[in-house]
Amino acid sequence: MAYNPQVVDAKIVSHNPKNGLFEIVAQMKDRTVCRLIYEKDASGQPRPTHINRLLKEPCPICRKDFLCNCMSKFKETISSQALEKAGTPQ
Ligand SMILES: [Zn+2]
Repeated sequence: MAYNPQVVDAKIVSHNPKNGLFEIVAQMKDRTVCRLIYEKDASGQPRPTHINRLLKEPCPICRKDFLCNCMSKFKETISSQALEKAGTPQ
């Protein structure tokens, strides 16, 4: 798969300090927008559990404009870029 996601902007949109769950919305260079759901592991490191493409633009991989699972293959790549931009909630 030649898709090379490039996160250009990312923001923490929700955070629950009680259970450590938080969400980041990340925008890619190709205008794809994804929501990432994180939990914190036992050592406090964030771990992405889900990624969903927001339905603003067709999928850059399969070109569907409805739900697909393409982004899940890039979850780790997009997640690490998103955390660099948005940081981790304390
Ligand atoms: Zn797709």
